[in-house]
Amino acid sequence: MAARNETVAVIGGGLVGCLAALGLARKGYPVTVFEMRGDPRNDVAKQGSLRSINLAVSDRGIRALKYVDEAMAYRVLEDIIPMTGRMIHDLAGNQESQQYGLYGEAINSIDRRQLNIRLLEECENINKELGKTMVDLRFHSKLDDLKMGEKVTIISNGESFQFDFIVGCDGAYSATRSKLQKHVRMNYKQEYIDTCYVELSIPAGPNGEFLIDANHLHIWPRHEFMLIALANHDRSFTSTFFGPWGLVEKNLDTGAKALEFFKSQFPDALKIIGHERIVSAFDNHPRGALMQVNCDPYHFSDKAILLGDAAHSMVPFYGQGMNCGFEDVRILLTLLDESSSGRSAAFEKYTELRKDDLKAILKLALDNYKEMSHKVVSPWFLLRKKVDALLCRTLGDRWLPLYTMVSFRGDIGYAEAIRREELHERILKKLEFGALAAVIFGLSRLVPLTVWDRVIKRLLN
Ligand code: FAD
Repeated sequence: MAARNETVAVIGGGLVGCLAALGLARKGYPVTVFEMRGDPRNDVAKQGSLRSINLAVSDRGIRALKYVDEAMAYRVLEDIIPMTGRMIHDLAGNQESQQYGLYGEAINSIDRRQLNIRLLEECENINKELGKTMVDLRFHSKLDDLKMGEKVTIISNGESFQFDFIVGCDGAYSATRSKLQKHVRMNYKQEYIDTCYVELSIPAGPNGEFLIDANHLHIWPRHEFMLIALANHDRSFTSTFFGPWGLVEKNLDTGAKALEFFKSQFPDALKIIGHERIVSAFDNHPRGALMQVNCDPYHFSDKAILLGDAAHSMVPFYGQGMNCGFEDVRILLTLLDESSSGRSAAFEKYTELRKDDLKAILKLALDNYKEMSHKVVSPWFLLRKKVDALLCRTLGDRWLPLYTMVSFRGDIGYAEAIRREELHERILKKLEFGALAAVIFGLSRLVPLTVWDRVIKRLLN
């Protein structure tokens, strides 16, 4: 590792900020992390905040962790629970497994807080390993202001600090982003969607067992709303209810109403969650809002760059927010390495390279709500999955299902995944038309011409 002279500030010590700090430190940059909250390691009892306490890590996230440090990736991913498919729960309580991949590929459930803590510990490990402070973690240190000059000046807690450049990883409501907007003509869009979420939990069974299969992402799709559950290491499940704000505010505003709703809509889930938990969750848990943020460009000269939710907050339905943020880190580090014409060129290339992919994943994430809550029970969707599986087995990489490209093939950009899927759709439409034409042609040879004429006339009238 070559030591560098440039100093870096990472704003935000969340998931993406920690990985960015680790990656930059591994490349020789001394990093200071400014995190507005306290150190989560000092508050072991506190379980998360508004956000879901587990999330799905998949190929893009794992690739990025390994790119930064392979041994570290294995350490932080030690407790993942692989989920090889969706388990669909119908109203009658029947369960149907839909595998994600053809060859047992899995997305993985991981405890968000644990992952954050492990990444913070890795930031300290690197200091021990190198015998000097490469990552200086500063908690209770909010970015209050920043000034651009020869160096970037950060104001936090009334003190000022100077760095050669900053990396904004301070989440969807990023202060770095709003400060940068004064310096760069940044397009910016924030959009709330009409879906609210409420967190619930399914406890472990009486003998400490999982009450439903741990290796599936469980979905109770009910078209306008849905319930999902992901396994935790302690054999409980984190479950999340998603539904329109109108429904939640009018019909699920109290625990008692929610209980009646669950009795009619999710009777099997209610059995394992328990009446008290439902009542308590809907009486006490906050209602989470979901929004999308997109901006462009992501950088300002060679002074600042935005990664993770600060640049592209997305709805959680493809399980890609963190994975995509980790991918941002890998791509930025690669470009910094490759650029012979300096950091400014690397940042510019980053914006250019990433723009289409980030727009694409925002769209994919939004569209996937329909898939999870509704399409997964549609015969057409299931038929399409079968056709995809057949073609993928025959044609290999030349026909990859969209889910496979997004979740298991980090070597394929999100925009390229959409492009290929659109091509597949067009081909299948042509084949459907071809098949229909072949059937008509076949019938026309079998049926006497006079009968055929009558059939056609009747159809046309
Ligand atoms: P954050 O996690 O928001 O971290 C930002 C950090 O910056 C925080 O620690 C914050 O305290 C700090 N900060 C903020 N402002 C300042 C400031 N002014 N100064 C200093 N520090 C500051 N993604 C997946 O990949 N898979 C999933 O399965 C998945 N499930 C999800 C389920 C739900 C319900 C939700 C809401 C999201 C889900 N996501 C998932 C998305 C994922 O949570 C985010 O994409 C990810 O947390 C983004 O990480 P980040 O570090 O960019 O931002």
